[in-house]
Order: sequence, then structure tokens, then C-alpha cells
Amino acid sequence: MESLRFLDPETAESIRTDFGSPAFVYHEAYLLAQAKAALSFPNAFGLTVRYAMKACPNAAILRLFDQAGLSIDASSGHEVARAMRAGVGTEKISLSTQELPEDFASLVEDGVKINLCSLSQLERYAERFPNTSVGLRFNPGLGSGGTAKTNVGGPSSSFGIWKDDLDRARSLAAGANLSIERIHTHIGSGSDPEVWKRVALLSLDLAEAFPQVNTVNLGGGFKVARIAGETGTDLQLVGEPVKRAFEDFAERNSRSLQLEIEPGTFLVANAGALVATIQDITSTGPEGNTFLKLDSGMTEILRPSLYGAQHPIVTLPKEVSGNETFPYVVVGHCCESGDLLTPAENQPDVLAPRELALSQVGDLCVIEGVGAYCSAMSAKNYNSFPESPEVLLRTDGSTSLIRKRQTLDQIMENEILP
Ligand SMILES: *Cc1c(COP(=O)(O)O)cnc(C)c1O
Repeated sequence: MESLRFLDPETAESIRTDFGSPAFVYHEAYLLAQAKAALSFPNAFGLTVRYAMKACPNAAILRLFDQAGLSIDASSGHEVARAMRAGVGTEKISLSTQELPEDFASLVEDGVKINLCSLSQLERYAERFPNTSVGLRFNPGLGSGGTAKTNVGGPSSSFGIWKDDLDRARSLAAGANLSIERIHTHIGSGSDPEVWKRVALLSLDLAEAFPQVNTVNLGGGFKVARIAGETGTDLQLVGEPVKRAFEDFAERNSRSLQLEIEPGTFLVANAGALVATIQDITSTGPEGNTFLKLDSGMTEILRPSLYGAQHPIVTLPKEVSGNETFPYVVVGHCCESGDLLTPAENQPDVLAPRELALSQVGDLCVIEGVGAYCSAMSAKNYNSFPESPEVLLRTDGSTSLIRKRQTLDQIMENEILP
């Protein structure tokens, strides 16, 4: 059985009392510690750490990281606007997007940096801003991710300019007198540290092909250990050989490149927990399963249903009956058999009972490792369940509500009866 990472039963209970159930809780001290660890990534000639805000875009978290010295990686024009509204300066925002916004020109004029992610994006940019400088995102031909859905490099991935289109990119840039000053690669979430290092070297080869490059952005993808048995990436270990490669590059090319990294998961995944309530327990008999039904599920945490991702789950029985445990299948509240919180690893459709403390209806259930891609990437409002509140557990032990629970009026506010 897992034990709680940063909550304790009393704090979890008081969060339920004060903010209702379910509620996301983020641990400020851990967020700051991860920011500090990322900022000490080995580098030869300077480092910028960008928070990949799609992992958890709450304004309070953006502001916390901004004050801790992080910059921002935005994945859409809307994210750029959201970061600006949270108070992040445009000069600290970089946009690498699958959909170049219609108003990209005004973002560039405001000082946002753009990494163009396809040849057609490069054409549109070159037409609007000839004789300027810009960044290019490449697909280096190699990818790595925890699952096929989170692997975003290699021939089956649409992200970035394909490596063999290098000459085409070069001539498009030259045609508009564009200076390519940044090379960007990002190969996937939860990537293998060895593959990550190899891609870092491939990115330096790309920097060699563009003599005006002054910055190489190696993306994010650093794996964290959410659940017992998983291993996280040691940033010092993956960073050291990359630092040496930057030094070698400087010797060969007389160019000192700045390094950028863009972690999302690494900064927030283990800083988040969901406080939920067991609202029913059902069984399909001795040959079947016993299901703990939460007042939550894919409406807050989609990763298990989508990827077969594993999250620690801890039940907190009010009446502790010794150390008794039971193999429960934990399910969500949606009318959807895929709303499953305990799938087999990487097999979202397969039930995998978990040994949890023997529980009753009304007991608390805490799901951990939910800081990244949960609140931000849920099946929001499915079955008309309202979006859950978000709470920041401060370094001094106090709590701040950083997002209210949604109301039915808000769910329906854009509907119009004809
Ligand atoms: C999603 C994303 C990241 C962050 O990935 P993590 O696996 O959360 O670290 C970084 N850069 C880009 C371009 C991304 O799309």
C-alpha cells in the first residue's frame, strides 16, 4: 500500500470540509523545490527554464513560477494570452504550437518568441516578418515517450519540421532573409533519458546547420516517478553530457549556445493530489470485482483512461479496522466503463484491482501525482459534473483557494435556446 506524499489524513479532511469534494490540492513548497532543481540543470553558457504551462495553467501557479525565475512555454495563442493575464511579461513567453494563431503577428510585435513548427508556419512567418529572426522546431527523427500517445518525435509524429526538410527550411528562411536564432526539439513526455541525450546531440547538429543559432531548446519530457517502482529522471545525470556537448560545440564552431529546457511534468506532477470521496461501493460477486466509486474520475483525471497511466491511490477509512486491505477496482462517476482509475499499466481497458485499506462509503480517497495533465486535461463537464476547485497548500501550512468550483450556470452560460 502507498502512503501519502504531502497530505496527511487531517489536512485532507479539512480540505474536504473547507472546499468540498473533489478538490485538487497543490503543494507550494514542492513546486518551488522542483523549480529550483530545474534551474540547476547543468549548462555551459547559460540556461532558461520554461514552464510548459499546458501541464497546469492556473494563474496562481504561473505567477509562483514566474516569481521563482522560470519563463513560459505556451502551446497555443490562448495560452500566451492566459500567461499574459497572469502577469507574465511577453518577453518571457515562447510559443511552440500546432496551430499558429491568426493574430501571431501581434504576439510577435508584443515580444513573444515563436518557434515555427512546420514549413507552412515558416512560410506564413516569412511573408509577414521578412528580415527578422525566429526559432524553428524540428522533429529530429527520434522520439520517446511513456506511451505512443505521449511520444512526439519520429516518423509517426506530426510535431516539428521533419529532419529531412532541413534544406527546404533553410532556403525558405534565406528567401526572406530570416535569421534562425533558435533550434527547438521536444520528443515526448516521460522519455527515456538515453534517447533524450541522443536527441540533444542531434539538436546540436541542427544548430550547426544554421550559423546564426544562439539558443538550443531541448524541450521537456523528463520522467518523474509517480508510483512505487517507477524511476524518475536525474536532471544532473542527463544534463552533464549535454553540457559537455555544448562545450565541444563551442570549440568547433566558436559559438556559445544558450540552453533552454521546458519541463511540465517534472515541475508539477508530484505537487498535486486530488481529495475525493468514496460515494458508493458495488460488487459483481465472488468471481467478479468490488468497485470503489468516487465522486470524481475522468472529469478530473483522464490519464488512466487515456494511457493506462498509474497514479498512487490512498483510501483513508474513518473507522480503521486494523491493517485490513482489499483488492478494489477504483472507478469514476461517469456513465462510461472507460472511467477507470485503476487500469493495468499502459492498458486503459484492462481492470487492475489495487490493494487498498478496507473502506466504507463516505471515506476519503486521495489520488496523487495529479499535478500535471489532470486538471488541465480532463473530460470537463462530461455528465454535467462541474469543474473542481483548486487549492494551494502554502509553505506555512495554510490553504488558498486558487480556483472555485464551477456552477451549473457557468456550465450552461453559452447555450442559447433558438
Ligand atoms: C508538452 C510539452 C512540453 C512539456 O512536456 P513534459 O513531458 O510535461 O515535460 C515541453 N515542450 C513542448 C513543446 C511541449 O509540447
